[in-house]
Amino acid sequence: APATDKLPLEVLIAAPRGFCAGVDRAIEIVEKAIERYGAPVYVRHEIVHNKFVVDGLRAKGAVFVEELDEVPLDAPVVFSAHGVPKSVPAEAQARKMIWLDATCPLVSKVHRQAERQVKDGRHIIFIGHRGHPEVIGTLGQVPEGVMTLVETEADVAALTLPQDQPLSFLTQTTLSVDDTARVVEALKAKYPAIKGPRAEDICYATSNRQASVKEIAPACDLVLVIGAPNSSNSVRLVEVSERCGTPARLIQRAHEIDPAWLDGIGTIGVTAGASAPELLVREVVDQLAQWRDISERQVTMAEETMIFKLPRQLAS
Ligand code: SF4
Repeated sequence: APATDKLPLEVLIAAPRGFCAGVDRAIEIVEKAIERYGAPVYVRHEIVHNKFVVDGLRAKGAVFVEELDEVPLDAPVVFSAHGVPKSVPAEAQARKMIWLDATCPLVSKVHRQAERQVKDGRHIIFIGHRGHPEVIGTLGQVPEGVMTLVETEADVAALTLPQDQPLSFLTQTTLSVDDTARVVEALKAKYPAIKGPRAEDICYATSNRQASVKEIAPACDLVLVIGAPNSSNSVRLVEVSERCGTPARLIQRAHEIDPAWLDGIGTIGVTAGASAPELLVREVVDQLAQWRDISERQVTMAEETMIFKLPRQLAS
């Protein structure tokens, strides 16, 4: 082999990583809507929390807005993968707009559970991150006052709901598996009669990505997580690595990597949040290869085969 003056670097690439079935579907909905209705197609909120994806769709004719009243009445509008409060499709309907719902089916499932539990007369404790669009959307499925948001065990300790009130809990789909288990434990200890979801609300993609970071992080000196700061599941991947004792950096693109981060490092981990395309993973690995003599190895924790159907309007 030709001599190289580059230092060796082992690159462990976590799998699964990157796009999940809900993100694939949401992007396809915007693309198909542009094909069907022609540009511009409006999208309420970033379709998924990734600038590269959003910029790509914008170039194809998508226009991103935060609220429905920014959308002209005759233009189609897509609701983002994170879900929306019930008031949003209701308003679109009232304004006779063409609207498409890209809410991930796994988020919609939580929405339906929330409705059912309220119908059963239960007060819902919702575990999630305040202000995240998914949380706003789920809180907006039920009348005000029947759902209480908690983020931490301390929030659970502060709850003053009476013991004889029928309770249930639900969670955001992109939480930390470990932190959530602790919050649920605290809830069950405080309210032994509380009813939980039949299966976990944290989605398969979130838990698989966390499991694969747990697998590589102990062997790494640093983990790079490709994802946006407002991407909940990506930020959780940084935390998972740090909990394993391995520093982690959240980056959106390869150019954000400071070569000084690699000083003294022999093994680096790479993963990507559910809204980050694989292209950006390759970009990061290629960047590393410019600085170091890399050997690349993928560490696979699970195979993902989930595919979600498109909404009826676009199915044919
Ligand atoms: Fe759906 Fe999970 Fe992907 Fe969110 S991260 S879009 S809940 S599959």
